[in-house]
Amino acid sequence: MGYRVVLLGPPASGKGTQAKALSTTLRVPHVSTGQLFRDAVRRQDDDGSRIREFIDRGELVPDETTIAVVDHWLQKRGRRPEFILDGFPRTLVQAVAFDRMLAERELDLPVMVFIQISEEETLARIMGRLGCTNCGNLYHVRFSPPRQAGRCDQCGKPLEQRDDDNAATVRERLRQYRTSTLPVVAHYRDRGELREIDGQLGKQQVFNALLELVRG
Ligand code: AMP
Repeated sequence: MGYRVVLLGPPASGKGTQAKALSTTLRVPHVSTGQLFRDAVRRQDDDGSRIREFIDRGELVPDETTIAVVDHWLQKRGRRPEFILDGFPRTLVQAVAFDRMLAERELDLPVMVFIQISEEETLARIMGRLGCTNCGNLYHVRFSPPRQAGRCDQCGKPLEQRDDDNAATVRERLRQYRTSTLPVVAHYRDRGELREIDGQLGKQQVFNALLELVRG
């Protein structure tokens, strides 16, 4: 059997950090729709500039684009792909499309994990969040600082703040989360398919809980 995991949660709940750690430990590819979109923006093609407008406003990228990006990623990985998927599905339309993608590949629903933090915690964490421009490793100036200011512990390359990590954008991201993503959380919870972790526990405790859920 292979590992298939989906991480849901509000902005800055630790999805990216935990997905990366899980991916390293289980040796399973990590895919984040937010990261795929940021890569498209960096490439500066037509799609990239359209996507950038949504990200900069803190709005969700349209479902059609998002679903196509995930489908394409899965297609490249054969019939029985393993993955740690972070940030998708984020709307009910995406959840239905995800069910179809799984059914087409005769895959069961992945382990669906919801990492919960409060809105106050999201705001506190977003301000000061830093990512490596090279390897994507994540830091926080207060909660998880790099050993040398502004440099990645892993690869030594510069760290930067995400363009969309600012007070105005994060309020809109939280609004989108409440209106579009919480219904997805409720959808899986109602089906009895949702595993929940308190994201306000320490990073290591969240990771241990996650590993226990995933390994079953
Ligand atoms: P994240 O890295 O998950 O915080 O995502 C950053 C931004 O990418 C979001 O604010 C959205 O604009 C966009 N995004 C990421 N995942 C999705 C998704 N599943 N559906 C729509 N937009 C997304």
